[in-house]
Amino acid sequence: MIIILKEHPDQQKLNGLVTWLKDKGFDIHSSVGANHTILGLVGDTSQIDIDLISANEIVEEVKRVQEPYKNANRKFHPEDTVIKVGNTEIGGGNLTLIAGPCSVESEEQIVEIAEAVKKSGATILRGGAFKPRTSPYAFQGMALEGIRLLLKAKEKTGLPICTEIMDANQLPIFEDIDILQVGARNMQNFSLLKALGKTNKPVLIKRGMACTYQDLLMSAEYVLAGGNPNVILCERGIRTFETYTRNTLDLASIPSLKTLSHLPVIIDPSHATGRSALVPSMSMAAAAAGADGLMIEVHNDPPHAKCDGPQSITPEMFDNLAPKLFTIHNLA
Ligand code: PEP
Ligand code: MN
Repeated sequence: MIIILKEHPDQQKLNGLVTWLKDKGFDIHSSVGANHTILGLVGDTSQIDIDLISANEIVEEVKRVQEPYKNANRKFHPEDTVIKVGNTEIGGGNLTLIAGPCSVESEEQIVEIAEAVKKSGATILRGGAFKPRTSPYAFQGMALEGIRLLLKAKEKTGLPICTEIMDANQLPIFEDIDILQVGARNMQNFSLLKALGKTNKPVLIKRGMACTYQDLLMSAEYVLAGGNPNVILCERGIRTFETYTRNTLDLASIPSLKTLSHLPVIIDPSHATGRSALVPSMSMAAAAAGADGLMIEVHNDPPHAKCDGPQSITPEMFDNLAPKLFTIHNLA
C-alpha cells in the first residue's frame, strides 16, 4: 500500500501518522519527491481500513500495490535510484560502462585491460575471481589471488571493482570490492541475497536464465528488504530455443524493468550473445533502449582467454564502441 501525501504536510501530523502505522506493525519506506512525499507500507495491509487513512488531512491518496515486490516497486519510489560507486554514479541519466575480462588471469592481464578500458571511458572494472562454471572441470577462477589482483588494478587505475560473490561466507574477502555481483546461476540463492541485504555495498544482480522480470525483482526485494538500497539489475540473456547465440538478449527488459522499478538496469551483451562480433550492435541497441549501463567482457588476447574468449571483445573494439554508446545514450 502507498500513501501519497499532500504537498508540504504538517510535520507533527506526519509524525503522528507514521507512529500510528508503525504501531500497527508496518515498516514504512518514505520517498521524498520534488512535489510529493510517498509513504510505502510493507506488511500485511489486508486488514487496514483505507478510508481511515484517506480521512487524514495530510493524505492526498491511498493505493494498494498489487505486485509482491514493494521496495523495488516504482510506485513506492517514483524517482530513479542512483548508486554512487567511487567517482561514478549508476542510474539517474548516466551511461556507466563496466568492462574487463571474464576472469582475472594474471597481474599483467588485468592491469593492461584495466588501463585500456579506462582510457576508452569505462568507469568500473569487472573480472571474475570466483567463477560459477557449468563444468566442475573448467577453470574455476584464481579465487583469493584474483581478488588481490583486482585490488592491485584498482590501486593502479583508480577504477572501482565489480566481481562475483558466490557464497555469503566469502563476504570478509570482498571487504574492499566496490560492487558485489550475484551471477545468473545464483540469482535465487536466497541466503546469499539475505546476507547481501545486511551490507551497504552495491549489489549487481544478474537475471537468471529462466527467470521472469518478477523473479528478478523479487530477488532484488530480498536485498532491499534487508536494508540495503543499493541494487543494480542486469539482463544477461535468457534461455530460448535459439542455439546460434549463447542466450537470447531480452532488450524489452530495459523499458519494462525501468517502468516496474526505480532500480538501474544494466545490459551484459557478452553472455547474452556468446559472440564478440554481436557485442557492438547489441550494446548500441541497449543504449538506444535506455539502459543505464553496459557490462562488457574485454580481453587483450581473446583466443587464449581462460574463460569466455569467443564473446570477449578486444580493447581496440571497446575503444571504437564506447564513443558510439555515449552518443546514442545522449540521443535516447
Ligand atoms: C560473468 O559475468 O562472468 C558471469 C558468469 O555471468 P552470468 O552469471 O551472467 O553467467
Ligand atoms: Mn564470462
